Amino acid sequence: GAMRHLPYFCRGEVVKGFGRGSKELGIPTANFSEQVVESFPSDIPTGIYYGWACVGNGDVHKMVLSIGWNPFYKNIKKSVETHIIHTFKEDFYGEILSIVITGYIRPEKNFDSLDALILAIQEDIEEAKRQLDLPEHLKLKEDNFFHLPEGKIVNN
Ligand code: ADP
Ligand code: MG
Repeated sequence: GAMRHLPYFCRGEVVKGFGRGSKELGIPTANFSEQVVESFPSDIPTGIYYGWACVGNGDVHKMVLSIGWNPFYKNIKKSVETHIIHTFKEDFYGEILSIVITGYIRPEKNFDSLDALILAIQEDIEEAKRQLDLPEHLKLKEDNFFHLPEGKIVNN
């Protein structure tokens, strides 16, 4: 299943999503481009994951991530969306997002109501926070992957 692909390291530009209103729900998700999504292993299961994330040369924060089916492409392509567990002063479209996915929470689900969806995401966030404090996940926060060479511009 998911575990054999983890930890999974990925870096790419933050692009506009398809306006599902994640931000209005209080859970903005930074979307990767189609090109970056295509670079994921094709057999990585859809669902909710957690790990570490960093915008540009910023601090490394906990994150939850969804690998799901992309409605814009009639659900034949995947989307990868990262919710960073941190409050940012501004949006960061166009910036480079670096992530390491360290664990898997659950498969994708359909919810009967918006409230049920929001509750599930809040539980996912709490689970991610707990798991990421455990040594096997915490150690990846310090990975060299997050230390970009200074003064260099990263393309993709
Ligand atoms: P979109 O459909 O364009 O992805 P969202 O409602 O999902 O719109 O909002 C995502 C955007 O919000 C991100 O691209 C980023 O610029 C911004 N943002 C602000 N705070 C966060 C955060 N904590 N996690 C992820 N994205 C955030
Ligand atoms: Mg989004």
